Amino acid sequence: MNKILFLLLPLFLQSVSAAEVNIYSARKEALIKPLLDQFTEETGIEINIVTGQADTLLKRLEVEGKNTPADILLTVDVARLVRAKEKGLFQAVDSEILKKSIPEHYRDNDNQWFGLSLRSRVIIYAPDRVKEEDLSSYEDLADSKWKNRVCVRSSSNVYNQSLVAAMVANQGVEKTEAWAKGLVSNFARPPKGGDRDQIKAVAAGVCDVALVNTYYLAGMLASTQKNEVTAAKKIKLFWPDQNGRGAHMNVSGAGLLKPARHKKEAIQLLEYLVSDKAQRWYAETNHEYSINESIESSPVLKSWGKFKADKLNLNLLGKYNTDAVLLMDRAGWK
Ligand code: FE
Repeated sequence: MNKILFLLLPLFLQSVSAAEVNIYSARKEALIKPLLDQFTEETGIEINIVTGQADTLLKRLEVEGKNTPADILLTVDVARLVRAKEKGLFQAVDSEILKKSIPEHYRDNDNQWFGLSLRSRVIIYAPDRVKEEDLSSYEDLADSKWKNRVCVRSSSNVYNQSLVAAMVANQGVEKTEAWAKGLVSNFARPPKGGDRDQIKAVAAGVCDVALVNTYYLAGMLASTQKNEVTAAKKIKLFWPDQNGRGAHMNVSGAGLLKPARHKKEAIQLLEYLVSDKAQRWYAETNHEYSINESIESSPVLKSWGKFKADKLNLNLLGKYNTDAVLLMDRAGWK
């Protein structure tokens, strides 16, 4: 009996390990766990998730090589997805569902990574000190009329890097660097804190305008913490560049890792994440824009109205990330 069990055990373990997906996630577990739990409930496929900083996870994947237990890498910015691709960590996924559900400019040209949810980096302002008609584009924030009035987080933040990379893609390094110098000279304070802190700073009168991702503002408006709601209600959102390229967009996204041991299940999960059900969850719970235009936004996002989104292919944000980082440094953007 014991002998039979001994012989059968490896088989049993194999069959158990087959019905799981291992994720390395730069996205906070709380922001995705309920969705993954729902997937497990529907499919019986268990999900194991390791969270960490994107760069730490990339390092770990490189060190682990083909021995990594991870099947999927999940990130909150396209630049890290492109970096993972450049490091040869991903494999292509040939899925009609992914291709059909995700617009071409929000996924990799070689099908190695896929955008799963959308956010815009917008201008927020204090309506008691800024007239809406004084705002226009990202470029305009370098104008001297904004001297000592701009708050923005550090240049080490990948959202800023991607915004600057988009500008490099559109107008080249030289023009973008001149813009960055102008922007830095308009800073009300040295960059510090996250996007929520910029919103609080504008609300507190430290500065008059700031650059933030849409879901942070929405999250504060829908927050259970009264001080967050109060701060968020003091400021307004402005959609930048509506007469030009449109508001800068970025994605959270994922790719299938080359050594993935649960390829079939991992692809099944990726396809689940672009389903209407999952996309509705991203919209309602995380206040992100759905990758699928037919899904309705959360009430807060809806209250900001329709806007023109920059249609730039996000592959370019990865391509110009290094240029962006270097020019921000030269411009003195700490
Ligand atoms: Fe974020």
